[in-house]
Amino acid sequence: MARIAILLEDRCHPKECQWECQAYCPPVRMGQECIVEGPTGRPIISETLCIGCGICVHKCPFDAIKILNTPEADPSEIVHRYGYNGFRLYRLPAVPRQGITGLLGPNGTGKSTALRILAGTEVPNLGAFDAAGAWPTVLERFRGTQLHEHFRRVASGELTVAAKPQYVDRLAEGGGSVAEMLGNLPGGAAAASLDAVGLLGHRDRPLAELSGGELQLAAIARTLATPADLYLFDEPSSYLDIVHRLKVARLLRRLGESKSVVVVEHDLALLDYLADSAHLVYGEEAAFGVISHPLPMRTAINTYLTGYLKDENVRFRTDPVRFVAHPPKLAPRGSALVTFGALAKRYPAFSLATEPGALQRGETVGIVGPNATGKTTFVKMLAGVERPEEGSPPTGVTVSYKPQYLKATGPASLRERLDARRSDPGFDSGLFERELVPGLRLDGVMDVALTDLSGGELQRAAVALALAQPATLYLLDEPSAYLDADERMAMAKLIRRQVERQAVSALVVDHDVYFLDLASDALMVFRHPDGALDRGAGAGPFAMREGMNRLLREVEVTFRRDAETRRPRINREGSVLDREQRSSGEYYYEAAA
Ligand code: ADP
Ligand code: ADP
Repeated sequence: MARIAILLEDRCHPKECQWECQAYCPPVRMGQECIVEGPTGRPIISETLCIGCGICVHKCPFDAIKILNTPEADPSEIVHRYGYNGFRLYRLPAVPRQGITGLLGPNGTGKSTALRILAGTEVPNLGAFDAAGAWPTVLERFRGTQLHEHFRRVASGELTVAAKPQYVDRLAEGGGSVAEMLGNLPGGAAAASLDAVGLLGHRDRPLAELSGGELQLAAIARTLATPADLYLFDEPSSYLDIVHRLKVARLLRRLGESKSVVVVEHDLALLDYLADSAHLVYGEEAAFGVISHPLPMRTAINTYLTGYLKDENVRFRTDPVRFVAHPPKLAPRGSALVTFGALAKRYPAFSLATEPGALQRGETVGIVGPNATGKTTFVKMLAGVERPEEGSPPTGVTVSYKPQYLKATGPASLRERLDARRSDPGFDSGLFERELVPGLRLDGVMDVALTDLSGGELQRAAVALALAQPATLYLLDEPSAYLDADERMAMAKLIRRQVERQAVSALVVDHDVYFLDLASDALMVFRHPDGALDRGAGAGPFAMREGMNRLLREVEVTFRRDAETRRPRINREGSVLDREQRSSGEYYYEAAA
């Protein structure tokens, strides 16, 4: 076993604490220099003197320390290490001359770092964190491997790279318009790629006015239009609806026919459709990450869902994830818990009409459909945040609402938020502490200021707070955003279990098909009626089979089943199965035996 001591520097505030890590450390108390003050004024934790007791981890008021005992990874495989008590990355993905390579793994295990290294924007230090990395040493290390030629071309400036960054929100901060963002690219290529993603008509709009999905598409268009040998896409599906996810996937596949493309993606159905092969990434968030050998795409996802990587004898998860191939048997329709009538909402440039519906006790209903069809508006009307022009939201129903866009305010931590809520009538702090905190892996961030949480951590915290609030109807708008695939699956199961157990109802807006499949008992489907973009129509809840068929017919996608795991896989357009399923009208489930 190797001991790894990690200091999360952005969470460590050495002037605002009593150096509890050092004060309580047993080796320090025995006179050993296990925790000392480093040159930056923060503690340095010696991995050789540390006894792994974990006292510093618990005593740190900011949750800034992690101590792990892990199976020995081969230190000679370290490619990059951020400081003595910093994250370390083992191995790198392969970069074939053409084709699409996926990277699949938890948040904080070094996927973005690996992309920066492949692009040459971060020179890997091979573990020697005291000095900056240097290409001659890197070339020496990779001699005789496929990566040697790659880094030779990077070091000599021969290889050109185009990268789509993870956080597209930041692109708007510099100001400017869509056209200006693509400004220095060849005119024809820029127009063609804007057209391909459907943004040609938005060329003159300021970036600051674009929605998250439009910014993502603009960033993708820019990358596609950049002439390069290697293309890197860090989470291209964020903010995109299912139609745009598929559109982007097709564009990337076309690119991969002649170029080398590496993609980080957490939507498993999409990654499966998009990439030719993938590396699984495993490790511990913010501590270390190991990049597996490449696997053919189908095997990669099956291995990931099974939770066990045989070649390397690594288990990522104790429970395999299972999908049902046949539509779930319709539960006997009990008495409806929440009924709502037809609702209508009119904005200056958009109007929404939804049909009446009912939610059963213990039922989680997914809300699906393209962007800008009114899903969020519908949820807001049920939450009482927006008033419908026609119809009225259900009365006598208490709701708990998690909005789509989250904003952390104030320096408070999740623990302080929890303490403030304890006295609220009905707030279930026991449920919060016993089930939601461990289920959503929030243990390590209870004392971190909400403003310092990552996107995924803030999402998990917001869902936990919403679920601990007593309600008959839970409204969760895009709870999978910023989560990695594992967190999505854990959250899907947890939402469903809580709703069932408390015999309440939930409506969950989302775009990730695997997440929806695992979370939902039924589906509401939103669309643009007659293709009119200025109108939205919502209907349902429908049984899963009908809901999936309605959604997928609209977006013209069929799924087949994987022979081994029965998980749904997107069919290639025009394949035999695709044509057969379209004509029989079974877009998602196998016909009942
Ligand atoms: P992923 O893309 O898998 O989410 P990243 O490559 O972004 O992971 O980061 C992995 C870990 O490396 C992070 O959790 C963070 O602790 C650390 N890290 C990333 N960038 C830096 C940096 N510039 N300096 C120090 N640590 C960093
Ligand atoms: P979805 O959740 O399906 O993406 P939304 O309900 O967010 O759709 O938005 C539907 C349409 O209503 C969009 O075209 C959006 O621009 C418009 N819209 C939403 N909120 C407002 C508002 N407060 N004022 C004016 N238009 C709005």
